[in-house]
Amino acid sequence: MTAEFDLIERIAQRVRHLENQQVDLGIGDDAALLDVASDQHLVAALDTMVDGVHFDQQLSGQDIGWKIVAVNLSDLAAMGAQARSLLLALTLPQGDQAWVDAFLDGLSAACEQHQVALVGGDTTSGPLTVSITALGEVPKGAALRRDGAAVGDCLLVTGCIGDAALALRLQAAGQTPTAPLLTALNRPQPQLAAGVALRGIASSCIDISDGLLADLGHIVDASGVGARVDVAQLPLSESFLEFAAGDWQLAVTGGDDYQLCFSVDPSKVSEAQQALAGVNVTSTQIGHCIAGSGVLLNDNGKTVMLGQPGYEHFV
Ligand code: ADP
Ligand code: MG
Repeated sequence: MTAEFDLIERIAQRVRHLENQQVDLGIGDDAALLDVASDQHLVAALDTMVDGVHFDQQLSGQDIGWKIVAVNLSDLAAMGAQARSLLLALTLPQGDQAWVDAFLDGLSAACEQHQVALVGGDTTSGPLTVSITALGEVPKGAALRRDGAAVGDCLLVTGCIGDAALALRLQAAGQTPTAPLLTALNRPQPQLAAGVALRGIASSCIDISDGLLADLGHIVDASGVGARVDVAQLPLSESFLEFAAGDWQLAVTGGDDYQLCFSVDPSKVSEAQQALAGVNVTSTQIGHCIAGSGVLLNDNGKTVMLGQPGYEHFV
């Protein structure tokens, strides 16, 4: 047996329990066989994390395993999909068994929490890179898309924003962020229940991975509208207010929030907020869609345009 097949076998053993009723054939053949009902769309998303780009030595194997699952499920959440299964492409510098075990611990914990199966993947050697393809389902016609926002719609976000960006900033300054901030950065929670709750209510939706400003920018571009956001309404946590009060620019440009930003017709705002409360998710109205293009920020009556959007590769 080669080291590669040893490693695949270890992965297969370690995640065997992660199956669900959709999986007719999991790891072990050339491809997996998954059952999808004919009234559902198969929803597919892929996200990659590269050593030195998306994480560094400060992030443990466990946290990397958790986070690569969470960021992928966050894309399914933004579509209003139910998460079903994952494919994992693992590129490792050398067979570091302790790292792989730690990584699989974090990955399994995130999969278990969301009842997601690991049904296949690929294992190669090279610079440390973890990539996941996430598969889910949503009833045909019910997916939440980026292109449905209309002028007059209200804009809301789930949870709080800015905590992950603040944690990253404190780490960069050599400080140790408090536990809630570190949890936001290293153990994000994909808002799957919120996405499902918003089916049939939200007119558009996106998950905030690159910062509210950049991601809301995608909604307004796709929908052909503009947006006005009132910075006084931004939902900021107690920790954020303790360590970065007043720095709303960090909260809107930072990224790694994995909250949902969505638009909803004004007549449906309370329905949306009640549906979210029903799955224990808080939500905050931050602004509305206007005629035009781009995102305007209203800071105490002053209109501000920030020149610096969220994180971008290839700049
Ligand atoms: P092939 O050579 O036919 O592409 P592999 O030997 O790469 O097959 O993989 C054998 C089985 O192990 C397949 O079912 C594949 O999906 C699974 N597998 C390989 N690597 C991983 C991984 N990192 N995570 C999960 N499953 C994997
Ligand atoms: Mg094959």
